[in-house]
Amino acid sequence: MRAKVVKIYVAELILGKLMNLEYIAHLSEVEKKSILERMIKLQEEVGELAQEILISQKSSGLEHKTTGKDGIPGECVDVILVALSIFFKTGHSQLDLEKLIESKSKRWEKFQNNS
Ligand SMILES: [Mg+2]
Repeated sequence: MRAKVVKIYVAELILGKLMNLEYIAHLSEVEKKSILERMIKLQEEVGELAQEILISQKSSGLEHKTTGKDGIPGECVDVILVALSIFFKTGHSQLDLEKLIESKSKRWEKFQNNS
């Protein structure tokens, strides 16, 4: 069942139903930040995601903190978008992305089935 869900997700991703990859590739191209700046931005977004998760887990020392407006889902998307901007700006295509997502998803599934 899970494998079927993953395959549907990947297929929809490839078909661009979940993401407008052409639009994201365009934004990545016209973005003024350098690759190095994007890498730092990615680390910032990963930190924001970590903080959201720690708050949601009521981690020690963060009891007084409240989640941000976008929460965990929004921070996940921020991470994805910045990572995609690096992917596209370093000369990789939508087809490269589709192939890599498919092959890496299959590899991930294989590891899950072997554990
Ligand atoms: Mg963010």
